[in-house]
Amino acid sequence: MQVFKLGGASVNSVDRIKHAAGLLEQYQQEKLLVVISAMGKTTNALEKVTEAFYKERKEEALALFEQVKQNHINTAKYLLVTHFNETLEQLFQLFTEVEWALHDKPVRDFDYYYDQIVCCGELLSTTIISAYLNERKLVNKWIDIRDILRTNNNFRIAGVDETVTLQNIETHLLPCFEEVNMVVTQGFIGATDENETTTLGREGSDFTAAVMASLLKADSVTIWKDVEGVMSADPKLFPDARLIEKLSYDEVIEMAYYGAQVIHPKTIKPLRNEGIPLFVKCFFDTSLPGTVIHNKSDNALPPIIVVKPDQVLLHLQSGDFSFVGEKEMSGLYQLLKENKERANIIQTGAVGLMLCVDDKGVHTDELAAAASALFEVQVERGLTLLTIRHFTPEVFENLTAGKQVVLRQQTAATIQVLVR
Ligand code: ASP
Ligand code: MG
Repeated sequence: MQVFKLGGASVNSVDRIKHAAGLLEQYQQEKLLVVISAMGKTTNALEKVTEAFYKERKEEALALFEQVKQNHINTAKYLLVTHFNETLEQLFQLFTEVEWALHDKPVRDFDYYYDQIVCCGELLSTTIISAYLNERKLVNKWIDIRDILRTNNNFRIAGVDETVTLQNIETHLLPCFEEVNMVVTQGFIGATDENETTTLGREGSDFTAAVMASLLKADSVTIWKDVEGVMSADPKLFPDARLIEKLSYDEVIEMAYYGAQVIHPKTIKPLRNEGIPLFVKCFFDTSLPGTVIHNKSDNALPPIIVVKPDQVLLHLQSGDFSFVGEKEMSGLYQLLKENKERANIIQTGAVGLMLCVDDKGVHTDELAAAASALFEVQVERGLTLLTIRHFTPEVFENLTAGKQVVLRQQTAATIQVLVR
């Protein structure tokens, strides 16, 4: 058994979906679980729907959702012939579920509604793609992963209950593979034991593929991307970025931790536990070798550069100029936990702390407001965080030339600077 993951960029148009089908055709003889994300920027669009709904701007929410609907209807129209009517009916069932929610008034917390609304991106994309594959005689079964992937109710970053998920795999998923070679399902979403939909965190489809692979004891996971494989830097920013052919799980965990967009940070652990290799391969050219991530370490890695724009630095001063101690530090971590926020850097000084997080607009304003109960807070936006793994002095000099360094942290293998 193999697990494939197709991301939003691999299914963002009629042409790409056709291309994906061609790719899957090459693997028809194997047992394949295909985990698929929402098409293109659908999740972003659905986030906007949720925000409008939560601010009780119902008409705006419905209008925004209408665009999502039209996109999917059009995609289905261009892809499907014999399966069109049946699929359209299924799409409308999914639309209706969301519209139902949008007609209500929000009475529960934002994260709950987020998951109930945003989940439809994956349900819609997989419904269309599964039908299209069947129409192309690539026989497959569509399953609603919410019947399998059980999570807790930590909406928006739900944790997976592996015990129940494994039982569900045995009762609901494995029997499908006795009938067909290919099962198509959704990344990113799951459900609680009360059947409320949850999501696993943005870009969580990689993680879904990894969890399912580890529970299925699959031979491998392949993430199909619109790049050659894992690169030493973003080729759009650094034209001399190069492909890294082999990486250890540990190196990838480090890279993801520092914000490399390669793979969702939570993806590696389940694979590492089971020793399942992860291939990152080029969606457009399956003959390219791509990258393999496994348990062997490679000692000759090039400098790996990660650039995170849109950073905000919170300067936190203890109010009375007393030294920063355990009270302030635990207050800070409590604050991060309550705001479901992750620090990119924390640096402590005598009477102040510096906290660097991703700028999430209103959410960050709320974090700053909450912090002001404990500290005097100054907010500095518009910063960029540069991280270099396996840095050399030359690479570091080149990267920071002409930039103003606001903060710097360094270990033997990694250097990080926050620049203006
Ligand atoms: N569609 C979700 C997102 O855009 C999950 C994923 O793509 O992995 O975050
Ligand atoms: Mg994605």
